[in-house]
Amino acid sequence: MRMGCIGLAAQHRLEATEKATEGEQVLPALRFAPSPNGPLHLGHALSAIEYARLAKLLHGRFLVRIEDVDQTRCRPEFEASIYDDLAMLGLAWEQPVRRQSEHLSDYAAALDRLTAMGLIYPSFESRGELKALASAHEAATGTPAPRDPDGALIYRRTSGRMSPDKEAARMASGAPFALRLDMASALKTVTNPLTWTEVDDHGEPVRTVDADPAAWGDVILARKEVPTSYHLSVVVDDAIQGISNVVRGEDLFAATAVHRLLQQLLGLPEPLYRHHRLVLGIDGRKLSKSEGATGLGALRAAGLSPADVRRQIGIADSETS
Ligand code: GLU
Repeated sequence: MRMGCIGLAAQHRLEATEKATEGEQVLPALRFAPSPNGPLHLGHALSAIEYARLAKLLHGRFLVRIEDVDQTRCRPEFEASIYDDLAMLGLAWEQPVRRQSEHLSDYAAALDRLTAMGLIYPSFESRGELKALASAHEAATGTPAPRDPDGALIYRRTSGRMSPDKEAARMASGAPFALRLDMASALKTVTNPLTWTEVDDHGEPVRTVDADPAAWGDVILARKEVPTSYHLSVVVDDAIQGISNVVRGEDLFAATAVHRLLQQLLGLPEPLYRHHRLVLGIDGRKLSKSEGATGLGALRAAGLSPADVRRQIGIADSETS
């Protein structure tokens, strides 16, 4: 990969152009990107099977990316069982896998770029302080404090921001901090309409979605102890890996708005998106990694075949061949 002072997107485009000029075909590329912070469940099985199916249909590449930037929660044994689970599903993926923890400088470069654009600032409130601020807001206004699409309290840059010198001194003092995107300024910076294209299960565009990143407030892009966030690393990696199609559960539908904003700010290419149905537990709720019964490791240990797993998540055998 060429290095230098060109940006990530320019670098990506340059490589794609070079390949095309050299006659090398740029294939569709799809990635299954689990975080090794718990055992995979049937919902992950649906994503992985959908990825592999679409990659085959589009004559593209099927990649696996390990999203392990949060080293406080990720563990090697979970990564090892991801590979066992995928093998149990009968899937084959390209080697080597990209492990995010080995590419922190790529995310730091993107964060530096946003900082140079004046779009990043630190916040120092603890979770407890943020809750107290929300309660005070609710008491003063009689209305619930605004929440993001995931139900977390929304944070926006306040007028009482510290001076940049004070902020730098506080960060240098070792105090915990979060680096946030100044959403209002970021939205003023983008000029193109913020939308994305959803495709159907054949990879055909079906609709254009208007992205609403403001619904997330000033999202966190890094923390003192975790040098990048899911949002930042996912867009950087999708660009570096030349991902053409992102396939994931509909619980990440709203987050795509943040990804489209970051892609525009950083000048990164826009993949096509498909957000598929979620696999629900018997209580009708979304599965979580802490539920052992639907964990793929438990199903593997019980001797379930790929066909059994496909049946459990409602995929007909004819859809998978
Ligand atoms: N690491 C994310 C997850 O496991 C990946 C989401 C995505 O595909 O963008 O939910």
